[in-house]
Amino acid sequence: MGLLSLGTPLPWDQAKQYADYVRTQGIEQLIHIYNNTKGKHGDVLLWGDEVEYMVITLDDAEKKARLSLRQAEILADLAKLEEQGLLKEADVTFHPEYGRYMLESTPALPYTGNPVDLLNVQRNMAKRRQIAKEHLRKNEIPLTITSSPILGTPGQFTEPYYPPTGPASRSLFLPDELINPHARFPTLTANIRRRRGSKVAINVPIFFDKNVPKPFIDPTINFDRDLYPEDANARDGAALPDHIYMDSMGFGMGCSCLQLTFQATNINEARNLYDQLVPISPILLALTAASPAYRGYLSDQDTRWNVIAGSVDDRTEVERGLKPPPPDLKTDNSDFVIPKSRYDSIDSYLAINDPVLRGAESHYNDSKLVVNNKVLARLHEAGFDELLAKHFAHLFIRDPIVIFKELLKQDNEKDSDHFENIQSTNWQTMRFKPPPPGSSIGWRVEFRPMEVQFTDFENASFSIFIVLVTRAILSYNLNFYLPISKVDENMKVAHHRNAILEEKFWFRTNVFREGDEHSANGDAVGNGQANGSASAAAANHGNYEQLSIDEIINGSPTGFVGLIPIVRQYLQNVNVDTETLCTLEKHLSLVSKRASGELKSNATWIREFVRSHPAYKFDSVVSPEIHYDLVKAIEKLTNGEGWNTDGASILKGF
Ligand code: GLU
Ligand code: MG
Repeated sequence: MGLLSLGTPLPWDQAKQYADYVRTQGIEQLIHIYNNTKGKHGDVLLWGDEVEYMVITLDDAEKKARLSLRQAEILADLAKLEEQGLLKEADVTFHPEYGRYMLESTPALPYTGNPVDLLNVQRNMAKRRQIAKEHLRKNEIPLTITSSPILGTPGQFTEPYYPPTGPASRSLFLPDELINPHARFPTLTANIRRRRGSKVAINVPIFFDKNVPKPFIDPTINFDRDLYPEDANARDGAALPDHIYMDSMGFGMGCSCLQLTFQATNINEARNLYDQLVPISPILLALTAASPAYRGYLSDQDTRWNVIAGSVDDRTEVERGLKPPPPDLKTDNSDFVIPKSRYDSIDSYLAINDPVLRGAESHYNDSKLVVNNKVLARLHEAGFDELLAKHFAHLFIRDPIVIFKELLKQDNEKDSDHFENIQSTNWQTMRFKPPPPGSSIGWRVEFRPMEVQFTDFENASFSIFIVLVTRAILSYNLNFYLPISKVDENMKVAHHRNAILEEKFWFRTNVFREGDEHSANGDAVGNGQANGSASAAAANHGNYEQLSIDEIINGSPTGFVGLIPIVRQYLQNVNVDTETLCTLEKHLSLVSKRASGELKSNATWIREFVRSHPAYKFDSVVSPEIHYDLVKAIEKLTNGEGWNTDGASILKGF
């Protein structure tokens, strides 16, 4: 979740006065980091995963499953193990997250580039879940579900109960007590709302099952409730007909995900990896789809992304393009209108030395990039190249949302808090991470789109798959460039219900570069179309087509070679031992079968579970009773019941 600083957070009317100061100091900190580390070479390839959990309390007598708000106690218990060195010994760590019912965990030490390390991924995830479980009450379980179907429903959905609303979120549905009480989180919630000038408004299309009335006007919203007259958004039209309306940061940042961080050997490799993973992001968002229900209803989408984007959208009406700027409004930004929320897909490629990008920069970086002109000028002056300068000048169009009074004065040569304040509240599909000052850590990139899966097996599978894709990208110098506008189109499509099977996504089909061993002999991995020199690609901008997820992941005989065949070829080339290969193959097989539809996504599985429940009335309502049974069923899957642990039958029928 980013940085947890301690101190007194400033309310928005004070914080905003320091916005420019924090930006200016943050950029000086970045310049120091860059100057000290731009020549850093030879860092080894390291990587790690982050898994986010929801802690659920089961009331078997009443048949209720609720979100347990015991994060602080659980983490305090785990901290005791940490002090005794036991977590390090087990190679696990735990962290807080936004929701007070959430936990986050990572391996204590990063994995290396050695394929044998991949065998530890599932084991380590299982160990983390086990340790978490041992520190929960008997009736609590840690589930890896992406969106909680009961969050914000009428009645009691947290344990203990708190009535909805509070000064931070002013939500009609969520109590403030659900927010991690560390000052950062309620302040983020309140200041996003204050900066925006209204509550956030998230509207997800309802799934029109046969008994959902048309139009659908949500009967659970009390439109007359006048808690905060100046914030009467639902009544004023923020809640759209035919949609599930959500009005608070908790609905988004209370979702869970699976993230991966990679350390590159140097800055250029990190820039390359960042770029190449950009077009993969929407594909993996769609492929890991796991969030079909919100606020007690089935939705007509399968993934969480736009819910989180909406939940932290602090843009003013002018910035959202809803109102013209008043004549006296001043901004350092290159435009008053900002097209996206601070949680969204990335807006520009970075790898300036890549001949494909360099030859056709405006073709690939084809979206309007709003930048902070002052920051851009300073970065140019400090010797940043155009793409790197624009990348950070774009992130720095945002205001710092939480400012701790005690941290205002910093030593820009040693500290990075002001930089991180803006950097880590730009929650995009990819994050480009400069080394922290004074550490031995290198340049890193974070892959952030994936939805978390029910089981450790699946989470390990998607992690391993992406790790192997990164290895193949670097070994074969693969080229996945697509215009950013096409990546954005793919992000939208990735939300659609059953997108894995029913949608097509833009994807590059000639991913090998001429002159490379594999493009000279495209058939090395069965790709008849593996051609296209950098200059030719620049001239005709490469070949990209609309493919199904199956074609992108598994390839097709006459078209794109497919990511899994590329990864398999890579594994053959690096001479992995048979035992390792056999385990990796099981994980790749899961990814492959998800893409082909042979195995269901978590989202489809949840939707089908709800729709086939005896108490379901085909009204898209996930009642507390259905929710309880759903949670119990997911728990069974998590424990390995009902499926074969080689992954072959996971989520097939259940
Ligand atoms: N939980 C957020 C998500 O689902 C990510 C929070 C973080 O950056 O750790 O994307
Ligand atoms: Mg997190």
